[in-house]
Amino acid sequence: MKDLKHLIYFERLLDNADNELVEQAKKDGKLIVGYTCFHLPEVLLNVDNCVSVRLRAPRTGSVDIATYYMSNYTCEFTRALVERAIEGGYQFLDALAGVDACSMMNRFYEHYQILKCNANEKCFTTHLDVPYKTEEFSYTHMEKQLQKRLLDLLHETYGVDVSDKAIRKAVKEHNEVCKIMTEIGDMRKEDNPVITGYEYHVLNLVTYTCPKYLILPYLKETLEELKNRKPDDKPAFRARVGIVGSEIDDPELTKMIEESGALVVFDRYCFGSTPGREVIELSTKEPALLQVVKHYMDACECARYMAENKVEQRRETADRLAREYKADGIIYEQMKYCDFWGFERALVTHVMAEEYGWPILSIDRGYNVRGSGQLRTRFQAFVESLEIKRIQKGGKV
Ligand code: SF4
Repeated sequence: MKDLKHLIYFERLLDNADNELVEQAKKDGKLIVGYTCFHLPEVLLNVDNCVSVRLRAPRTGSVDIATYYMSNYTCEFTRALVERAIEGGYQFLDALAGVDACSMMNRFYEHYQILKCNANEKCFTTHLDVPYKTEEFSYTHMEKQLQKRLLDLLHETYGVDVSDKAIRKAVKEHNEVCKIMTEIGDMRKEDNPVITGYEYHVLNLVTYTCPKYLILPYLKETLEELKNRKPDDKPAFRARVGIVGSEIDDPELTKMIEESGALVVFDRYCFGSTPGREVIELSTKEPALLQVVKHYMDACECARYMAENKVEQRRETADRLAREYKADGIIYEQMKYCDFWGFERALVTHVMAEEYGWPILSIDRGYNVRGSGQLRTRFQAFVESLEIKRIQKGGKV
């Protein structure tokens, strides 16, 4: 297929947490609010003159200093963030919005604050208590937390307009991005898609890490380009897979799977698009904040939700996506030492294989996977096993 016009530019934007569009937004007088977790509604970090940046630590090498503070047995994503914060990589932030989702990420917020990783004296770190269940009282609890510990703070510290009207405006812009990403994502359902999993991963990540108003023109152009893009006559892939699991913010993982012969057709992980890029429908019957809360809590597929309905939801979603996107198998992945996904993965890989009948590959991995020959071998073996299954069923080789 012909290369996407802006792909190299998008890749470059992902080379640094503080990329040129974030810098541009700062020059435009925007406030940059960093966050790390789906439990914190991204759209609320884009009210008025605020811009959300989902924090990553691209090109992470050693995490030795963070390991000294956090120990070997903590999730490498959080250690990579601590390392980058100590190096001064998040100086561009005006606020850091944290949630009490997992104890390891809590330690990132703690270190960021205690080690004074940001010289900007006005920069504040906030921390919200998020519920474990999706019940009426937990929606209102979350609504109160967001009002008190996020919106009020933004207003008091920087004079940000956090009114209902401002939230609705932010939702409108957020939805523009979501519509484009959903339309592009739907192209992956085709038998011979015009976009690879790697390209989609890069595109989706820039929507999380760049100011929406600056990335939108590029997204619109890419959508038009994709509508006219001709796929290769003979697809280069031997199987189709989806990925489910904990956070992935490095498209190199998707690239490695695709280099092993499997097209990645859906992304059901933290930092992915399902959930993450659904349009938020707002009515005039309830405050926008409460509706945003309900949207995020209902859509959330994080393994931190342990109530029966959420456990069931995660399995049904993975099964539905695999059918909709015509996957041959599912890769369940987990960041090493992530407790929530550790428990989830151990059980669900059996459930999805034995009760739902999906071929499953189950892996744990570090934050930086680029050099992992072991992972590559496992992906290659999984692709071969999917091919053999297809041959046994009498399908095309
Ligand atoms: S991957 Fe797991 S341990 Fe790491 S930040 Fe996310 S939930 Fe926490």
